Amino acid sequence: MTSPGNSYPAGSAAFPHRGLLGIAGLAPHEILFLLDEAEQWVELNRLPQKRDDRLAGLTIINAFFENSTRTLLSFEIAGKRLGADVVNMAVAQSSVKKGETLIDTAMTLNAMHADAIVIRHGSSGAVQLIADKVDCPVLNAGDGQHEHPTQALLDALTIRHALNLPRGGAFNGLAVTICGDILHSRVARSNILCLTSLGAEVRVCAPPALMPTGIEAMQVTPFHDFDAALRGADVVMMLRLQQERMQGQFIASPREYRHLYGLTLDRLAKAKPDALVMHPGPMNRGIEIDSNVADLAERSMITRQVEMGVAIRMACLDVLTRRSRGVEGWS
Ligand code: ASP
Repeated sequence: MTSPGNSYPAGSAAFPHRGLLGIAGLAPHEILFLLDEAEQWVELNRLPQKRDDRLAGLTIINAFFENSTRTLLSFEIAGKRLGADVVNMAVAQSSVKKGETLIDTAMTLNAMHADAIVIRHGSSGAVQLIADKVDCPVLNAGDGQHEHPTQALLDALTIRHALNLPRGGAFNGLAVTICGDILHSRVARSNILCLTSLGAEVRVCAPPALMPTGIEAMQVTPFHDFDAALRGADVVMMLRLQQERMQGQFIASPREYRHLYGLTLDRLAKAKPDALVMHPGPMNRGIEIDSNVADLAERSMITRQVEMGVAIRMACLDVLTRRSRGVEGWS
């Protein structure tokens, strides 16, 4: 099994944060540290026996106030593979439905002495609110339109693996095109922060109504013409149209959207010849991405992203509980 690069500060100085609320605020070497830590879990997860008991005796609560398939399962598997007791809070049956406030829910979770809490919530900032009220590390599994940090980390790990980029190294010279509903996407936000911090050139492409104003301030180049945004791209990351966050009409019709912004085989040909295709899921096949692109052997990274997700979440859970486990240098 590989061990992380030794170019990081020792112990907790390598990752001095109490939780993982976003990519914002992380230094590039802290991002690389988490990616490097995840490598050992990529290897473990490919073995028949996928077990490491370093979190034995710890309790992890997954509190998902918004629907999820991949992220919830991924965090659950990650915690279990590290030996923790993982409990999923069933929001639909919880007192949240009876009108309990977020703060009261946070205080209840805290009283149960969880060792880490993973939270997904429909409101931007809700995870921070809970993190301020509890004693253990909190991991943001997606809050509203704000951030989804483990998605950005798993995407970076996927790119690094697929392109054989060196461990500990930056992403300089890499052109990544992110296309779709940028306005409502926490995945886009976290990915922009992560990829630009690692040195990649990031282009964002969306119809005017789905492009946040002032996005240039995030060190990206905005495009409304998808063909132009694809020219010379090494990676094409497609985003789901987030209908549930749209109040009012943002696109003329799904048909027109596909015509202008859908990733078809013809359109993919505008990017570099072996450009990677990514999508965080869930996909609207036939709208933002065609099935024959999503299922492309070799170039579609969509299932690889899911694989890397478990490894990244194992790394985050391990690193963030080192303090409470009394790991040397992490006091
Ligand atoms: N699964 C991702 C998220 O939770 C992307 C999406 O829902 O479109 O943000």
